[in-house]
Amino acid sequence: MEHILKTTSVAACGLVTSLLTALLVTVIERLTGFDVFTFSLWLIIPAGAIGTGIAAASGYYFGSLYFHTRPNLLLLLQMVVVAGLTQLLIYYTQYATLILDNGQRVSDLIPFAQYLDITLTTAHYRVGRAGQVDAGEVGQFGYWLAVIQFIGFLLGGLGAFGILLGHPVCAHCKKYLRVLAKSDKLFGSADDLASYDDTLFQLPVDSPQFAEMARAEHKMKAEKGTWKQNLKLYGCPECKTQTIGSEVSVWNGKDWKSVNELARKFTIPPGIDLAGVFRAKT
Ligand SMILES: [Zn+2]
Repeated sequence: MEHILKTTSVAACGLVTSLLTALLVTVIERLTGFDVFTFSLWLIIPAGAIGTGIAAASGYYFGSLYFHTRPNLLLLLQMVVVAGLTQLLIYYTQYATLILDNGQRVSDLIPFAQYLDITLTTAHYRVGRAGQVDAGEVGQFGYWLAVIQFIGFLLGGLGAFGILLGHPVCAHCKKYLRVLAKSDKLFGSADDLASYDDTLFQLPVDSPQFAEMARAEHKMKAEKGTWKQNLKLYGCPECKTQTIGSEVSVWNGKDWKSVNELARKFTIPPGIDLAGVFRAKT
C-alpha cells in the first residue's frame, strides 16, 4: 500500500512539472514568438525538445529522491505516456491561445486535428546560423520531425532515469543516500594522489590519523595533469549508516575527466559518525 502511494506521488510530481513545462513553452512562444519545443540544431537535432524533456522530468527525479522510490519499468512507462500527453498539450495550448490578426480565435475556425496537421506540415525549415535561410515547407516530413521531437523529449526523461539508477542506495534499507559532506583534494601527479588515497583508506576510519588526513587541505591551481580526488560522505536517512565515496578525475586543460576505474566506495562500520571529520575546516 505504502509503495503504491509513493509511486503515485512520484507520478504526480512528474505530471505537475510536465504540465508546467507545457504551459511555460506556450507562454514563451506567445510572448516572444520563439517555440522552445520545436527548436532544432542542424534541422533534426531536437535540442529544444531535449531541454523541455529535462525540465518536465525534473518532477520524477526529485519526487523519486524524496519518496525513495527506485526507477523501475512502471516509472519508465509513465514517462513515455506523460511525455506523449505533454507534447499534445503543448500543441493544444498553442492552438487554444492562438488568435489571428483580425482578432478571431483559431479554435473557433478549425478543429484541433486540422490545426495540428497544418502546423506540422507547413512549418518551415530554417537553415543557417541564425535560421535566416528559409528552405521551404517541411510537408509530410513534419510528422517525422514531431516524432524526432518526441524522442528528444523522452531522452530528457531517460537522462533523469539514468541518473536515478546510478544514485547510491543503502545496501540494507534501499533508501537513497544523502550527501552529508564533500571535500576535493588536488594533487600534482597521479602518484601523489595514489599515495594519499592508499594511506587514508588503510587507516581505521575512527582513528585521529584518519581524521587529520581527511581534514587536510590539498589545494592548488588546476593545470593540465592536475589530479583530483572528490570525497563524499553519504548517510542513509533510515539506518544512519555512512559510506565514503571516492571519485578521481584529472584536469585535461578544459574540464575534469573522470577516471571511473579508480572510483571506490567504503562502508563505515555502524555507529561511527564522520560528518564532523569531513565538515570541519582547518
Ligand atoms: Zn540504511
